[in-house]
Amino acid sequence: MHDLQMIDLRGALQQHFGFAEFRGAQEAIIRDLLAGENVLGIMTTGAGKSLCYQLPALLLPGVTLVISPLIALMQDQVDQLHRRGIPQATYINSSLNYNELRQRMDGMRQGRYKLVYIAPERLRSQEFVSLLQEIPVSLFVVDEAHCISEWGHDFRTDYLQIGDVRKRLGRVPVLALTATATREVQEDILIHLRMEDCRKFVTGFDRPNLTFLFKREETREDKYREALAFLRKQQGTGIIYAPSRNECEEVARFLQRMLPDSSIAFYHAGLHPEERRIVQDEFMRGQTRIVVATNAFGMGIDKSDIRFVLHLHVPASVEGYYQEAGRAGRDGQPALCMTIYNEQDRAIHHFFLKREFPTEREFDTAFDRIAYGISPDGVFRGSWREMTRWPGLDDDKLSLLIHHWESYGCLTVLDMAGDSVAIRPELDRMQGRRTDVLQQVERLKMRRFGKLNRVVDLLRSPVCRREGILAYFGEVLRSRPDVCCDVCNPELHLNPTLVDAALHRLDWQQILADLMPMHRLDPNQAQDMRLSMTEGEEALRVGNEKNTDELPRLFELLGSPSVTTRRMACSALGKIGHPDAVPHLLPRLQDSNPQVRQYALKALEKIDDRRCIPAVHALLRREEKEYNIRQARNMLDQWGEVY
Ligand code: ADP
Repeated sequence: MHDLQMIDLRGALQQHFGFAEFRGAQEAIIRDLLAGENVLGIMTTGAGKSLCYQLPALLLPGVTLVISPLIALMQDQVDQLHRRGIPQATYINSSLNYNELRQRMDGMRQGRYKLVYIAPERLRSQEFVSLLQEIPVSLFVVDEAHCISEWGHDFRTDYLQIGDVRKRLGRVPVLALTATATREVQEDILIHLRMEDCRKFVTGFDRPNLTFLFKREETREDKYREALAFLRKQQGTGIIYAPSRNECEEVARFLQRMLPDSSIAFYHAGLHPEERRIVQDEFMRGQTRIVVATNAFGMGIDKSDIRFVLHLHVPASVEGYYQEAGRAGRDGQPALCMTIYNEQDRAIHHFFLKREFPTEREFDTAFDRIAYGISPDGVFRGSWREMTRWPGLDDDKLSLLIHHWESYGCLTVLDMAGDSVAIRPELDRMQGRRTDVLQQVERLKMRRFGKLNRVVDLLRSPVCRREGILAYFGEVLRSRPDVCCDVCNPELHLNPTLVDAALHRLDWQQILADLMPMHRLDPNQAQDMRLSMTEGEEALRVGNEKNTDELPRLFELLGSPSVTTRRMACSALGKIGHPDAVPHLLPRLQDSNPQVRQYALKALEKIDDRRCIPAVHALLRREEKEYNIRQARNMLDQWGEVY
């Protein structure tokens, strides 16, 4: 180690990468790593994170393992290194065929590589982990380390394996890197990666060359009119973020029609990988000026001259927002980060967010299928692709369930690195832990909702946007740029009169109806969304504040036409636990919606008031959902009632 600490780092930088100087914290990080320290680096996009491990990888005696969630990113980085004349870099991920995988693993065994990028799920392969134990690993790098935290905006269950593997490898220094991490996320990274002694480098989050503009529009017609006006004034390349795949295609089509002189493409995870690659390449080469995309587009987009990022919706988290917006102006030149939203956007998020998490029924489907598929040796073997086609389930939901079952000791994953899955389930335990796992999933969902609320707070807040964003990451704004945001520079707000007069002659309702069918929600659904957004939030707030003065308002909300509101009002009353709520909750045991009945039961259980016993008995006599029957019986058991 001593020799490495004396090394002429700047000479090595020049020799291998052709750069004259280190940037920011790069040199300090590299020196610490060479001295065998663990390092957490929180560095904004474009700060030069990769170099912090690429240079040490070349200087250290063994292999540097880089865990990265993005296949495209790994390939890019390895290609770049090869172009720089550094052939000892490779990657191992699901894009390789069997022979390629074998060759690369043999290469690792023979010491052919200094730098190996892997996807986190590779650590699910026993064979790969055994290989790591055979060879000298000098440095363990976790890129996009925020993915390890359930508090992060991009939690990935596969990341949780990393801590275990790290433990098995012994004392190998770890470098955890991310562009955005709140305090909670930082703590999670340190705990999960077992980085007890750790040096932390946080380069400021502020990006002075970015200007933030948030604009709320009343209707979606206004929103798109405003977006078009904005785009007509922009030059240079940009990214537009839309909330869903459908909307992304529809916005692109709409803009292609309205801005015929610009080359506009769309990008989302539903496209064929080859199509995605083409869209990305053409954008990188400057052949496409604007890409309309979902959040699938971005990580690894290292295009320095993006002049604007336009969010056409309420982003799902502040971290996510800042990472996306931060793709603008990586060259340090002025760039605009514009968000145009309306209140309905949040309801759409709620709608999608809910669908991201497994429901009870999906939980049971997964359980049944696994139970049914167990071989005589007690192992369930299946194809991951097939499993993600089980009714209602997809990649994320299944990973989440398997992760939670695993963490409750209900199953052991034997192999899950490729398409073939082998797990050893303990069915009794899986059944016994049903409620725990479901509650865990619910908690995760609530956190995501909480994150969404923080974005809404940011959008609505009357303080400087830059200050608000920095405060979210626990940082104080040190110096305000002249052109900062729409709060500090109200003159920046787009003036609707600037909109091309011709636009006003267009029939917006019709254009949008033609182009954006997804916006035509059925009226009941739309009404529920609108109400649940305002009233549901209110119920949530009152419940969290436990303010008994506001009980009458919650009683009122119990009668809302929105199912979500009624549910949230029940839940808030349960949290407050005041006995006055009992007579108001009892009629909800006869609510037309079973979930409202479920929340009413739970609230009554928390309040623990025997006045509700007859109503709970009555519920058992009616036709009722299994989960409500179970809940009602539990309650009666607790009160020593016979049913
Ligand atoms: P990040 O991952 O932090 O977003 P990258 O590692 O992709 O950033 O680096 C951004 C760009 O800066 C890359 O093109 C990289 O080659 C370049 N870069 C990194 N370090 C230096 C340096 N010391 N001098 C000049 N350019 C650098």
